[in-house]
Formats: sequence, structure tokens, C-alpha cells
Amino acid sequence: SIISYMNLKKYIRSIPNYPKQGILFRDITSLLEHKKAFHFTIQKMKEISKKTPHTKIAAIESRGFVFASALAYLNKKPLVLLRKKGKLPGTTISQKFKLEYGMDTIEVHKSSLNKKDKVIIIDDLIATGGTALAAAKLVSKCKAKVSAFIFLIDLFDLPGTKLLQSHGYKTYKLIDFPGH
Ligand code: AMP
Repeated sequence: SIISYMNLKKYIRSIPNYPKQGILFRDITSLLEHKKAFHFTIQKMKEISKKTPHTKIAAIESRGFVFASALAYLNKKPLVLLRKKGKLPGTTISQKFKLEYGMDTIEVHKSSLNKKDKVIIIDDLIATGGTALAAAKLVSKCKAKVSAFIFLIDLFDLPGTKLLQSHGYKTYKLIDFPGH
């Protein structure tokens, strides 16, 4: 890549008490708006993706879409959208998961993945890992294999990465932040 090294952390804006009291929100819009930082992020994800054989890129709604789309384009791989309940028009497979309060569901088109697929799953950030683990279960329900996870940000003092690794998944991240 043209840029040999960038400190991506300085392009992430941190907003206390958003969307509610006690959450320190790590905002990626400031990184996306910096052309070199966005470019460097995708180049790094591409380098990481080359270490792990894959047939498809899967993206977690909705900030995962931004990074996964660029990566799938560069790697010339199909892009599969893992969406919130009710967004996909075709026949879907779904996976429920626990949120802090209540439950949520993610879905994928049944026709999107099959047993020959090795999938890299992309999201902007991992915190508790609930969303990512549900994404992995969804991919598994389609009989596809999870090749690895790639995140831009790991909130390293929250249990997400350890949770995924304890289930045998490979995880990569570009930058770390504390969760609080
Ligand atoms: P989790 O399921 O707890 O790992 O949460 C992951 C999802 O929630 C990701 O899709 C993130 O975009 C979002 N998220 C969780 N915590 C934060 C945070 N502190 N700042 C920004 N996004 C977050």
C-alpha cells in the first residue's frame, strides 16, 4: 500500500454517554471521512484476509457493510449481508441472540451460503461478542465454515474476542480501545 503506516486510533471519535448513560461510543464516521484512514483500513483488512482462505465475505448490519463491501470488491469475492430481522425478502435462516435488554435476531438468505463456503465475517467493532457469535451460528446453520472474523475495533476489556476464541474462531482486529 502507498501508506506504510497510519495510527488509525486517532481517527476514531469517542462520545461519552451515547446512545445512553454509561456507554462510551466509538464513532467510525470520522475515520470514514478521512480518505487516507479509510483507504489504509481497507488495505489492512485485505492483508489480514489473505492469511485466511475464504470463498465469501459476510457483513454484519449495518456498519459492517461499509468495510465488508470494500473488502469483497478488492478480493473479488461475493458479499453476503447478515441483516436485522425482516429486511431480507427471500427465504431466510435466522439466529436469535441476547442483548442487554431483551432479544434480537439476525438473518441471512438461505441461498447465500452452502457447505462449500468458508466465510470471513466483518463488523466495525466487537464488544460483548453477542452479535458476532450469533453471526457465526447463522453461518454454521447454513453448513458453511467460519474462516475468521475481522473487526476494525476490539473493545479489549469486554469479553467479545475471548468468547469467539473460546468457540474456536480466529479473530483479527486493527485497533484496540477500552470499553469504558
Ligand atoms: P456486541 O454484540 O456487544 O459485541 O456489540 C457489537 C455491535 O454493537 C457492533 O455492531 C457495534 O457496532 C455495536 N457497538 C457495541 N458497543 C459499541 C461502542 N462502545 N461503540 C460503538 N459501537 C458499539
